Amino acid sequence: MPGYLSLEGIAAIASVPLGLAVGSFLNVCIWRIPRDESIAFPGSHCPQCNGPIAWYDNIPLLSFVWLAGRCRRCKAAIGWRYPLVEGLTAGLFLLTILQFGVTVRTALLLLFLSALVAITFIDLDHKIIPHLLTLPAIPIGLIGSLLTHNPPPRDAVTGALIGAGLVYLVAVYAEVAFQRESMGGGDVNLLAMIGVFLGWRLMLLSFGVAVVAGACLSLALIASGVLSRKDQIPFGPFLALGAVVALFFGDAAIDWYFGLIGW
Ligand SMILES: [Zn+2]
Repeated sequence: MPGYLSLEGIAAIASVPLGLAVGSFLNVCIWRIPRDESIAFPGSHCPQCNGPIAWYDNIPLLSFVWLAGRCRRCKAAIGWRYPLVEGLTAGLFLLTILQFGVTVRTALLLLFLSALVAITFIDLDHKIIPHLLTLPAIPIGLIGSLLTHNPPPRDAVTGALIGAGLVYLVAVYAEVAFQRESMGGGDVNLLAMIGVFLGWRLMLLSFGVAVVAGACLSLALIASGVLSRKDQIPFGPFLALGAVVALFFGDAAIDWYFGLIGW
């Protein structure tokens, strides 16, 4: 083992506090964006008593532990979601650095994953995917593919077009076949965003993983009586899960598959 830290080693260590801090900011976005509140002003405040939260009570994960999960002023419980989002973001940041190193592509992927985390929890809470998160991400991803050629610009553009078209077709089909709305415009933008950042192959894999995971969980929840057949399950979190699976395991899975069929 070398006696010094590589750039990757330092970045891997730094990615954890960075991910926790970004996760803390994403908690603010998840609460405020669907409520049309500014994400910058005012500073953090308790949703129960509206009291301001001091900086020392606003440190990711640690504050939750030393406040024992309660607001210092009104003692209202702080949702377990706050440390979960922080820890999840930190974990994704660390994985990204470990797998992709210190590159421009990594910086773009950290943005992409942050957007996916916010989208997941906003869609779970409100059953919407804000255009504010998906639409700016599409040109950012396109510029990124021009800079890094990963995915190549042609794959990014076809990924966005096929992704948007795919969700649109499924939505139209479901509406005709089942007389109900299955996916919305938010899902169209989300799969287009995934296509731009991952290219069309990994976008298709993301969609496949999302459909399988969504179907399995829906059936399990309906069978166990947690949900009825009429309940709507948001699809955004499954697309985000599919994108994360495709990003970290997709290339290996595709190589394995084409090896298997002898290409
Ligand atoms: Zn409070």
